[in-house]
Amino acid sequence: MTDNTNKAPSQTLDVARIRQDFPILGRTMNDKPLVFLDSAASSQKPNQVVEAISNYYQNHHANVHRGMYTLAAEATDLFETTRTKIAKFIGAASTKEIIFTRNATEAINLVAYTWGETNLKPGNEILISEMEHHANIVPWVRLCEKTGAVLKVIPIDSDGRLDLTSLDSLLTTKTKLVALSRMSNVMGTINDVAPIFAKARELGAVTLVDAAQSAPHIPTDVTELNCDFLALSSHKMLGPTGVGILYGREELLNAMPPFLGGGEMIDQVTFEKITYNELPHKFEAGTPDIADVVAFSAAIDYLNDLGMDAIRQHEIEITAYALKKLGEFPWLTIYGPRDTNNRGAALSFTVEGIHPHDVSQFLDSAGVAVRAGHHCAQPLMKALGVDATTRASFYIYNTDAEVDSLCEALLDLRKFFQL
Ligand code: PMP
Repeated sequence: MTDNTNKAPSQTLDVARIRQDFPILGRTMNDKPLVFLDSAASSQKPNQVVEAISNYYQNHHANVHRGMYTLAAEATDLFETTRTKIAKFIGAASTKEIIFTRNATEAINLVAYTWGETNLKPGNEILISEMEHHANIVPWVRLCEKTGAVLKVIPIDSDGRLDLTSLDSLLTTKTKLVALSRMSNVMGTINDVAPIFAKARELGAVTLVDAAQSAPHIPTDVTELNCDFLALSSHKMLGPTGVGILYGREELLNAMPPFLGGGEMIDQVTFEKITYNELPHKFEAGTPDIADVVAFSAAIDYLNDLGMDAIRQHEIEITAYALKKLGEFPWLTIYGPRDTNNRGAALSFTVEGIHPHDVSQFLDSAGVAVRAGHHCAQPLMKALGVDATTRASFYIYNTDAEVDSLCEALLDLRKFFQL
């Protein structure tokens, strides 16, 4: 590893202390220290989250919202505490606006199936962007197929930002929904969605933000974002897998039909007619992933204790360092903006003459875990003129020394391929 002693450590986070909470980061991989640079796919979990899962099962488990006994009330309290915490974390007005789903994908699909199928008519338009993840493309394409609505797409410019020059013709009174990602999972681009959403709302459109990549890394406030819906996944923000959040404005959620039918989401059931439960339970059919929802609370505490502003600052620093170091390689192409004020810590690149899958495999042999492929963003790959990229992504526990390890492994890769 390169001598790193002269470099100033992060001014914002005590990364060495943070790393102690993540035993997995002390592992070796292929006889090398693990350098985990794939948090954009899923973050690692601190001990506090893992312990919250076992503590829940060892001491508090019962089904929620049903039992009259004390243990069931305890489990329900723990479950609802997470709802309260995430409402505060994203600035929601009420816990009624927080729906637990399995992941961000399910949250977006919920909106497509309920709000979308009820409100869209032939000729209505849905506006998304060229840099969306498939989770924010596929539900809308399918909705268009079902309803006769038309999908419109904001293109990207050569820097990997939204190209808003044609926004006036794309966003019109025909637009009924604008669904945009706040941060690209491929290029790290941070989209300033608030002014676009403000205009959309003036025109009577509903707005949805895909916050799967942004919520773990930058402060989130649904009022500032001007959004009607927001989707995120716990597993990308230190929490367990199996838990997602749909935020929806109360008025809209009230007007929407339910998504799945079954226990918990009902008020009265007869064979002739069903009436539905109040928010948020109307959208939470069946037994939820209680333990993981409860443990998500520990992840939110962890992020709040560090402070989202400090997390953002740490990521600006490490991304700036990675952009500088990788920028020194003339045989490497970086995709997306270079200005760290407008980008997050997901960084995609290609290496001249070597397929991204081979890059990733070679890096793995050096202990460096990165993702390679289309990153569930095939239309974006097409716009970038590639079929795949290699992506390194950083989080609270990554260090400049790990960026150095990535760079050294890339130099070794070139030697290996005799380039
Ligand atoms: N949107 C974006 C921008 C993402 O990066 C991801 C996950 N890669 C998703 C949505 C979907 O998240 P999940 O797979 O947790 O549903």
